[in-house]
Amino acid sequence: MNKKISVVIPMYYEQEVVDLCYERVSNVLKKINNYDYEIIFINDGSKDNTLMLLKKIADKDKNIKIISFSKNFGHQAAVTAGIKFVTGDAIVIMDADLQDPPELIPDMLKLWENGSEVIYGKRKKRDGESIFKVLSAKMFYSILNAMSEIEIPKDTGDFRLVDRKVIDVINLLPEHNKFLRGLFSWVGFEQTEFLYDRQKRKYGKTKYPFKKMIKLAKDGIMSFSTKPLKLVGYLGIFSIILSFVILVYSICSYAFKLNHLSPGWTSIMVTITFFAGVQLLVLWLLSEYISRIYDESKARPEYIIKEKINID
Ligand code: UDP
Ligand code: MG
Repeated sequence: MNKKISVVIPMYYEQEVVDLCYERVSNVLKKINNYDYEIIFINDGSKDNTLMLLKKIADKDKNIKIISFSKNFGHQAAVTAGIKFVTGDAIVIMDADLQDPPELIPDMLKLWENGSEVIYGKRKKRDGESIFKVLSAKMFYSILNAMSEIEIPKDTGDFRLVDRKVIDVINLLPEHNKFLRGLFSWVGFEQTEFLYDRQKRKYGKTKYPFKKMIKLAKDGIMSFSTKPLKLVGYLGIFSIILSFVILVYSICSYAFKLNHLSPGWTSIMVTITFFAGVQLLVLWLLSEYISRIYDESKARPEYIIKEKINID
């Protein structure tokens, strides 16, 4: 039996690119010998003609499957739904706007055949993206990597080819607000980087306004790091040190008769900074517990087994 490739494509108000996207992706897939294929489109609550156009295509082509959401749940949710329903052995995730060229799929597939299990697209060049987008992405990945406990490759999006095994693991994760590119990196397996030039969006405009970018950035940082919670601990220590500095300063100025401090200043300042510090430290203690509760609530497995030998 032939192996199968599944391509997952989320769409949100993409009526301008539906036909072109279908054509380019299926032309590529048709030409790959000895493989069956399916393309799963997810209509993420678009109210334009996206769904109607997709249905037209699915009527004629049985390799096309559609999942349509009741409203807009966001790009990550759309991909999450798509990969739940894939039936292929190798799964490609890509954007509808053809910024990730489908013509690269055969090369990625070769890497997969040679044993790579996650082949993630890394952008060499970003055509037609604003300076703001490029800079904010750079900043985001630096902060993310400084904060988080795992390494998340810079300049990668969700464009990747993934082995069935890995998809099965991701599908088992119950957490919400997924940051997929982080999870795909976190699960391990044989990861290979695949350099490519990111193209200009073919039609339409970006469906990632500032608000959605912030949500994605927040999900990325919060789901891979509890460091922001623990930062209060440092603030607390700083505040307590400050209270001692003020105390020493006051004693010196009394001893050397500098006499410029108003009566009562020292006691108030020292008390405020000292107890602010104590409170922050207590908050930090609480954050340690909360971060443990948070880790448990994500219910990620403690380990992922790739193979077992002589064990049923
Ligand atoms: N998308 C989606 N739901 C959303 C926003 C975007 O399904 O709420 C899809 C969109 O149709 C596209 C992909 O996610 O296929 C990436 O979006 P876009 O190209 O607008 O992002 P950008 O490339 O500008 O970062
Ligand atoms: Mg795009």
